[in-house]
Amino acid sequence: MTRVNRALVDGIQGFLAPEEGDRLFDIALDACAIGPCLEIGGYCGKSTVYIATACKTAGSVLFSIDHHRGSEEHQPGELFFDPALYDLISGKVDTFPAFRRTLDAAGISDHVVPMVCSSALAARFWTTPLGMVFIDGGHSDAAASGDYTAWAGHVAPGGYLAIHDIFERPEEGGRAPHRIYRMAIESGRFEPLPMTATLGVLRRHGHPE
Ligand code: MG
Repeated sequence: MTRVNRALVDGIQGFLAPEEGDRLFDIALDACAIGPCLEIGGYCGKSTVYIATACKTAGSVLFSIDHHRGSEEHQPGELFFDPALYDLISGKVDTFPAFRRTLDAAGISDHVVPMVCSSALAARFWTTPLGMVFIDGGHSDAAASGDYTAWAGHVAPGGYLAIHDIFERPEEGGRAPHRIYRMAIESGRFEPLPMTATLGVLRRHGHPE
């Protein structure tokens, strides 16, 4: 099986641990038998490499949504601001050039559909059932619950919903991803599977059609 190039993914900016990435790869590989994959929050493409390499192996596709303007914590003056990802012409953070370089370096350009817009806009006319939805977008309550509301319903029976940055204790990080993880369980539509570090994994009830 083609796994990711470890040196390549380690060199990509991002906040995904290697074991979390490996889990995403495994889930995505399984999910491709059900439908295409979709991620919210591609950033510089770290999670994209793991998921899209699985899609490439399985002959499927990853839809990667990100406005590429950075989340709240990436803005100038904030904790994770990176001047290298700031576009002086637009006066805004722009992670799309780095994302595109990642696709080229990883050889996955033919298996990724970048959607450079908000999650809400991408969802407006979406009808395709998905094998996997990975939510790794903004951490505000509005952003996380918006992503959950827009996309969880598109996970096909037997498909996966993965949510990043789930912290059990409030002092470890924002609570919004944890809240949508609980919402998914309480909806009765998903079975929680074992977590990997801060990656929550749920599987939609029902068999693939
Ligand atoms: Mg994250």
